[in-house]
This record gives sequence, structure tokens and C-alpha cells, in this order.
Amino acid sequence: MRIAVFPGSFDPITLGHEDIVKRALPLFDEIIVAVGVNSTKKSRFSLEQKVKMLNAVFSDFPKVSVQSFEGLTADFCAKEDAGFLLRGVRNSSDFEYESTIAQMTKKLYSSLETVILFTKEEYSSISSTVVREILVNNGDVSAFVPNAVLDHIK
Ligand code: ADP
Repeated sequence: MRIAVFPGSFDPITLGHEDIVKRALPLFDEIIVAVGVNSTKKSRFSLEQKVKMLNAVFSDFPKVSVQSFEGLTADFCAKEDAGFLLRGVRNSSDFEYESTIAQMTKKLYSSLETVILFTKEEYSSISSTVVREILVNNGDVSAFVPNAVLDHIK
């Protein structure tokens, strides 16, 4: 079984995240979208809300499940028997960050492979941070997030 974990904050999930998971479907038997619980990072949406929105987005995809985890992503992958860590890259700063993390992960867990997909151009400027900014100012985020997020916000 090729099991991949797609870890992130998903605060909230964007069209960019959704696209990465959908494009990764043919590569894996199972994809676990894993919401990292980070006590130092403040989030706008609660863990419960994030999981609810993710479940709504991927409800039609039996290969995709949603979970949350605390601690090291690699430890969570081991617990789930996942051999692959899925990440998305938008630009050169994502690239720098992701390559550092991937190299450290490789040193610590040699059997875990990081698989990076490059984002589609139309999603490359979308980030959860910008979505949160717009929400704070009561702006329209419909061009950036899946409908499930819009339903949740309403
Ligand atoms: P983290 O806090 O771990 O960076 P995010 O929820 O911001 O969590 O992102 C999770 C993953 O999705 C990361 O690999 C990130 O680079 C990727 N990602 C974020 N936004 C996009 C996007 N618009 N297109 C493609 N990948 C993205």
C-alpha cells in the first residue's frame, strides 16, 4: 500500500491545497490529510472546524481521509505506516523551506520519501495567510477556497 500523509495547518484549506491532493490521487492508494496541532502557532479556525471543512472538501474521495496529529510529522507517518510525505511548492521561498525540511526528514527517517508537487500557476499566489487577512476585513474569499469553506463561514 502506498500511503501518503499531506501535513499542514489548513487554516483554512485553500484551492491550492485541494489541487495538490487531487493531483496526487493517482500516485497513492491512500492520502491522509493531517492537520498539525501546533500549540505555539495561533490559528483562526479551531481544529474541529478545520477537520470539518477538510472532510467536506474530500467527502467524494474514498482514498482521502482526514486526521489531526501532535508532534513530529515523521512520527505520525510512522504510526500510520505511511511511506510518503506529500507537500506542495508555490515559489522559491517554499522551495527553500521544503528542501531543508525534506533533507532533515531524510536524515532522521531514511525510509520516508518526501514527494513534492509544484502548484498550478493559477493557485501559486494563494495562501491561508492571505485568506485570513481577507476574512478579517470581511472581504470575498470565494476565488481562493473550496465551497465547503464558504459554507462554513456563512
Ligand atoms: P504549513 O504550516 O505546514 O506550511 P500549510 O497549510 O500552509 O501548512 O501548507 C501545507 C502544504 O501545502 C505545504 O506543503 C504548502 O507548501 C502547501 N501549499 C500551501 N498553499 C499552497 C498552494 N496555494 N498551492 C500548492 N501548495 C500549497
